[in-house]
Amino acid sequence: MLTLAATTASRSDRVFPTLTPAQIARVASQGRQRAMTPGEVLVEVGQRPVPFFVVLNGEVHVLRPSGGAEALFTTLGAGQFTGESTMLTGRPGLTRIRATTPGEVIELAREQLLGLIQTDAELSEIFMRSFILRRIELIAGGYGDVVLIGSTHSAGTLGVKEFLTRNGHPFHYIDLDRDADAQALLDRFHVTADDVPVVICRGDAVLRSPNIQQIADCLGYNDSIDQTYLRDLVIVGAGPAGLAAAVYGASEGLDVLVLESNLPGGQAGSSSRIENYLGFPAGISGLDLTGRAYAQAQKFGAQVMVAKGAANLACARPPYTVHLEDGGRITARALIIASGARYRKPSIPNASQFEGAGVYYSAARMESQLCAGDEVAIVGGGNSAGQAAVFLADTAKHVHLLVRKDGLADTMSRYLLRRIEEHPGITLRTRTELMALDGDRHLERIQWLDSGTGVVETHEIRHLFMMTGAVPNTGWLKGCLALDGRGFLKTGPDLSPEDLTTGGWPLARPPYLLETNRPGVFAVGDVRSGNIKRVASAVGEGSIAVAFVHQVLHQ
Ligand SMILES: Cc1cc2nc3c(=O)[nH]c(=O)nc-3n(C[C@H](O)[C@H](O)[C@H](O)COP(=O)(O)OP(=O)(O)OC[C@H]3O[C@@H](n4cnc5c(N)ncnc54)[C@H](O)[C@@H]3O)c2cc1C
Repeated sequence: MLTLAATTASRSDRVFPTLTPAQIARVASQGRQRAMTPGEVLVEVGQRPVPFFVVLNGEVHVLRPSGGAEALFTTLGAGQFTGESTMLTGRPGLTRIRATTPGEVIELAREQLLGLIQTDAELSEIFMRSFILRRIELIAGGYGDVVLIGSTHSAGTLGVKEFLTRNGHPFHYIDLDRDADAQALLDRFHVTADDVPVVICRGDAVLRSPNIQQIADCLGYNDSIDQTYLRDLVIVGAGPAGLAAAVYGASEGLDVLVLESNLPGGQAGSSSRIENYLGFPAGISGLDLTGRAYAQAQKFGAQVMVAKGAANLACARPPYTVHLEDGGRITARALIIASGARYRKPSIPNASQFEGAGVYYSAARMESQLCAGDEVAIVGGGNSAGQAAVFLADTAKHVHLLVRKDGLADTMSRYLLRRIEEHPGITLRTRTELMALDGDRHLERIQWLDSGTGVVETHEIRHLFMMTGAVPNTGWLKGCLALDGRGFLKTGPDLSPEDLTTGGWPLARPPYLLETNRPGVFAVGDVRSGNIKRVASAVGEGSIAVAFVHQVLHQ
């Protein structure tokens, strides 16, 4: 009982801490002290930017208005402060803050607060922890300004959920299949069940089957971002490589904007558990790792535009202009391209249903443990498929390697081919094509066509590895930069004299490590030719590139 009380008290202290007089004095030196009157609204829902207050004396209520009523989130008294994650993102506020007594507060504009966070390590830790924990409480309490009406059977609903979750946006979910009152709510907004998912945004805008751009626009995610001036550094892609570059760039004083066409976190954000990233012996979910990196980049002042990708690059000479998908454009003195790659997925309609539950895109130790003692199938004829077959054969009951072609001689190294042919635990099935996947919550069986015999076979195989290669996200560059034979960006010593001539390389020095054939344009992470496709290498390259950006900006 005692332990529980102590734990509860310490969590409450971390979510709603009370600053010491010395800490308050440091906040006061950055802002202005003023009186508040009972009933005065200090912050309104949807206000942007949201100012920050420390209560010196008196009391304020943090409220969530809903349908004419107000739900009380918390009460803050002397020494306590307002704010949650929107202070970092610059997005519209989610709560109303009203004075309930006469009193005094210290008021800081968002920019003043960000300046304090960047220079005062002790206050930074207190504010960051409490802002993030408050956002978690808002999410848990369903305090958000979004209602999502959907169905577990609709892929669109899952997409919207993932978008809101990865953006840390609180929402209330109503499941049409389970909630009998949901239809009444739909009727109120004149929408039918065919329109699901339906997003009711900020209490009144109704979005039917929206795409993520529409949701981001409705929630004002990118409204605070000024597109009109020349930036030091624009980073394309908010996966681990782009977020690492943003953290290092912004923390070293650069004016950084990150463009993300989809969700912050990239491929790593969709990994259920990353076991091999340094410093996390128990593993960490991709969502946690990249969510922390996203907050860290914003803490240092990097801005992140989500659901708005780069569509084109005007690269003739610096400064470079990135044309956005919605017609907007951003100019920058230096550019880091971290747009990653996407793994080729099987063209079988229900394949995504089994991702992580029987369908895998890498064959590392973790996956080998999952399928120890079971039969597995691997699709692919390249070296990655060969390495996976040899590796998995050590632990699996049997490995079936499915290849469409007649053989592997053209696509796989000879040493691997020989090992596969000689290994009793591997059956090479040439002229074989994956046809169907079946199962409930986990893959249970697969079907393949032996085009030699024309027979479709069904096998009780619960683990399928897709090793059909990665496709780089470089199409948007439309020939601006030198690519290798597979479409990945060439950098540094990999660039040939012809690449430099084609790019009109104007400098006496050769390109830096990670620099493309355009000065000041760098490529990092999975999108880069020769990159080792790991979170650690993406993070390493993102941080290294920033050191070269400084050199370019000083030249
Ligand atoms: C399921 C899965 C599990 C994995 N598990 C591990 C693991 O356990 N350990 C490990 O080390 N590695 C793992 N990896 C590999 C690792 O995730 C990648 O190597 C890493 O994410 C690469 O980071 P990146 O930033 O270079 O690219 P990405 O993570 O691919 O991020 C690129 C980002 O750029 C965005 N983008 C693309 N085009 C544009 C555009 N035109 N404009 C704006 N934005 C754009 C994308 O939406 C994406 O968010 C895993 C990969 C997957 C798919």
